[in-house]
Amino acid sequence: MQITYELDNLIKIGGVLKFSTLDYPGKLSAVIFCQGCPNRCVYCHNPDFIPIKAMSSIKFSEVMDFLRTRQGLLEAVVFSGGDPLIQNDLYKAMLQIKSMGFLVGLHTSGVNPKRLKEIIDITDWIGFDIKTNFERYETITRNKVSAKLAKESLDIVLKSNVAYEIRTTVDSRYITFEELHNIAKLLSDIGIQKWVLQECILRTKTDEQKLSLPNIEEIEQLEQYLEIEVRRQ
Ligand code: SF4
Repeated sequence: MQITYELDNLIKIGGVLKFSTLDYPGKLSAVIFCQGCPNRCVYCHNPDFIPIKAMSSIKFSEVMDFLRTRQGLLEAVVFSGGDPLIQNDLYKAMLQIKSMGFLVGLHTSGVNPKRLKEIIDITDWIGFDIKTNFERYETITRNKVSAKLAKESLDIVLKSNVAYEIRTTVDSRYITFEELHNIAKLLSDIGIQKWVLQECILRTKTDEQKLSLPNIEEIEQLEQYLEIEVRRQ
């Protein structure tokens, strides 16, 4: 009980998705959206979870109470965001959830390599977002240090034994096919065998616009480097 009380103050949660078939490969999961992210991605799909100073909308102990009712029904709990790596006590929170018998997943853009190192051994699966070529990261993230941190974090993932997925949201306003080509080559060169290209949807309160993904011929060109999965929303 004491740890849960501490975590109510130390882990900021913006929201919870109580059931998902999409957020942890092949597993039924719940998703905890951590509050706060140091990036400001041009297409961010969860802008409400960006402000770091915003208060928690749900206490960690309330999430734990909910998860107790789902033991044996759900298989995994995914920490998403925002970016969970800015939560000081992510390790303790993950440990609590693992101790209940759930697999633990992480969605991240690699914003804090030091914290990633702390938690990687207790993480079962990571969905790692590569925003674009590292030289042009800031055009997407609007964060000067994001490329350096993402590179360090990717290196940690690749040197670990954790299961992972590398994915990129294809914002065709900023990422040309030539850049996709260069990213594919880079990922292949560092030993990555599969790359997920996610459809980018720009949403306003009244409208949504789906940006184009590479066509079949372009996908075939990228597949000379590594396996490609196209994921539409
Ligand atoms: S890293 Fe994710 S949560 Fe953070 S701004 Fe970018 S898209 Fe939004």
